[in-house]
Amino acid sequence: MSARPMPYLEGLNAAQREAVEVLDGPVLLLAGAGTGKTRALTTRIAHLLTLGKARPGQILAVTFTNKAAREMKDRIGRLLGEMVEGMPWLGTFHSVSVKILRRHAELVGEGALHLKPSFTILDTDDQIRLLKQLIAAENIDEKRWPARQLAGLIDGWKNRCITPARLPKGEERAFDGWGGKLYAAYQRRLLELNAVDFGDLLMHCVTIFQAHPDVLRQWQDRFRYILVDEYQDTNVAQYMWLRLLAQAHKNICCVGDDDQSIYGWRGAEVGNILRFETDFPGARVIRLEQNYRSTPHILAAASGLIAANKGRLGKTLWTDATGGEPVRLIGHWDSEAEARWIGEEIESFQGGHRRAIGKRSLNDIAILVRASHQMRAFEDRFMTIGLPYRVIGGPRFYERQEIRDAMAYFRLAVSPTDDLAFERIVNVPKRGLGDKAVQTIQREARDRGLSLLEGAASVLAMAGIGGKGGAALRQFTDGMGRWHADAIDSRVNHVELAERILDESGYTAMWQNDKNPDAPGRLDNLKELIKALEEFDNLQGFLEHVALVMDTDKGEQAEEVSIMTLHAAKGLEYPIVFLPGWEDGLFPSQRSMDESGTKGLEEERRLGYVGITRGEELVTITFAGNRRMYGQWQSSLPSRFIDELPEEHVEVLTPPGLYGGGYGAAAQPFASTQMHERAARADVYNSPGWKRMQDRSAARAAPVHRVPITIDAEPAARYAVGDRVFHQKFGNGTVQGIAEDTLTVEFPTGFKTIKAGYVQPASE
Ligand code: ATP
Ligand code: MG
Repeated sequence: MSARPMPYLEGLNAAQREAVEVLDGPVLLLAGAGTGKTRALTTRIAHLLTLGKARPGQILAVTFTNKAAREMKDRIGRLLGEMVEGMPWLGTFHSVSVKILRRHAELVGEGALHLKPSFTILDTDDQIRLLKQLIAAENIDEKRWPARQLAGLIDGWKNRCITPARLPKGEERAFDGWGGKLYAAYQRRLLELNAVDFGDLLMHCVTIFQAHPDVLRQWQDRFRYILVDEYQDTNVAQYMWLRLLAQAHKNICCVGDDDQSIYGWRGAEVGNILRFETDFPGARVIRLEQNYRSTPHILAAASGLIAANKGRLGKTLWTDATGGEPVRLIGHWDSEAEARWIGEEIESFQGGHRRAIGKRSLNDIAILVRASHQMRAFEDRFMTIGLPYRVIGGPRFYERQEIRDAMAYFRLAVSPTDDLAFERIVNVPKRGLGDKAVQTIQREARDRGLSLLEGAASVLAMAGIGGKGGAALRQFTDGMGRWHADAIDSRVNHVELAERILDESGYTAMWQNDKNPDAPGRLDNLKELIKALEEFDNLQGFLEHVALVMDTDKGEQAEEVSIMTLHAAKGLEYPIVFLPGWEDGLFPSQRSMDESGTKGLEEERRLGYVGITRGEELVTITFAGNRRMYGQWQSSLPSRFIDELPEEHVEVLTPPGLYGGGYGAAAQPFASTQMHERAARADVYNSPGWKRMQDRSAARAAPVHRVPITIDAEPAARYAVGDRVFHQKFGNGTVQGIAEDTLTVEFPTGFKTIKAGYVQPASE
């Protein structure tokens, strides 16, 4: 055995050591947030290399995001120093699949048509464009049967590794009977173009592995050890891919947490965790229970929230950390006030005003939002006060496609000579203008020294573009003429004008007809954009503001607050975390609340659990009593999840100068007259939302019986058979049996086996 030093093993607890040292055979590491799963996985790689069990190229490690892959590379580098040459195959399912597929592209194909190693990978836009052509070729009404809906259908099939030939009976009838046929046509077209889409990357690999045992064998031999992080979020195609690769040697180690499964909407299946032991018999299942990341309060708040979910494998979490503040909860008048308050809090951390927290780097602070449109208020606020920030895992608000499109409309309305804006939107939504038509306009403008908009009018006047395209173009130029006149007329309300532009141009309708899952988010972003306009006197002023925001965006800052969605925050940790927008309809999302059954709601709750468990020292949850939509007040209710937080781990704060007294006293009149006037104008005091807030604060004042979240190491050992215990749902009962960490309790409704942490000694 190697005599190399293994300093990386020091400090690991017994279960972690087991996860690192049991190298051969299938291992499933199933544990809650912050228990060191990723750390164990990384250390395992270091250990494999140190012991010489495998060369770097024989290890395959799959993570969920490129950021996570980069971090893992860094960590391994740090653990091993310069000891090993080369690096393991470390990346996302997609990035590894591309590498594999390039080597065997020719095996994908039908008849004489084959994929070539130089294939291109289409992005969503390309994909949609292709599908539109195919839909049009079949004379299907694209208004009723939009390409994005078909794209979603096809993605769904690919996530399940279903090729056109293997479509289950009945499913090919989807999309008005055309689904199967269009899917096949699409795959053929991709081959002709020597292209693949994202879903193909995995599906092609799997089909190659299945049809060519020799190729599969070659990769099985290469990857002697396979490791997977965030296993709970793998979909069927990914699972098949893994199982095929690991089948020969079975040295596969998956780590995950069923409570953090948040990609169900993208086809991820928690069931993969349950199948693991069946597909890999004799798998060693290791559980980690000690959390090293968060304070007891943070951990207890997160555990309390997730306890409301039913479909759980259940697990114990504890920490021997002490101290820390309760999770803070604060309500604000509206989302702007929320952003303002968080900005001030962050500034106070920087000055080191808070004794417990001390002076903090901005890099220690993260704001995690449910929906990307929430970012706008923070971005604007932070720009105004000069607080450096970065948006992780997605474009900044003003860089988003739909925002750039809408801004291009506004820009052109304000300055008709803005040719860049013209080019961006002349065919968005599609107006049936081909490349040729656009070239004609460009030539006309160039030859006669006109702007593109004028060039278009000129071409139309000469009937240079006819047919449907010509009519649509005329509508566009006529509309622009009207909007321009309104934009420079100070009597016209610019917020209404902006809405009108997006409506009349067909831009809003384009997204409304879009059946893709991201379309509602884009519509929300557009609403958010309109809302941002309200703070300016006219369109011009707003456009200038954005130009400045964009300009300051350039250049990396050494210290920045991180803003990202809860989804993008998976696996990450920050000392200080803000969770804004905990309101019904936003978080949990309206869609999850409208759905019958609790599946959607449980996924939202897991998202909340992910959010809270990102925090190490201080977590602050905020909500706004009002969000403005289309210039209208909409009062919102505090999130139902707030009620599920264990009260003893939550401290309710009072925002200075906003409410009379914070959440608990939300019923008191507003301190600021201006706020009060606005509220009265919007009839907020009579809204159902407001009333419910009053009821809630009254209920909150009454004593509530709540179960403290036990974070002991071996809670079950504290009970004896015959003890009387209390459970929040089942009431009082008598302990009849004791296992490791579970109790069998006889309740009036029958016997239940439950985690000991979820009951407490009965008080009767
Ligand atoms: P998540 O479920 O959020 O992905 P995780 O289980 O992957 O969490 P890690 O990110 O690996 O957890 O670890 C959480 C934190 O705890 C990290 O800062 C890590 O360095 C630290 N940690 C893990 N194990 C130990 C240990 N044995 N001793 C001290 N710190 C540890
Ligand atoms: Mg992790």
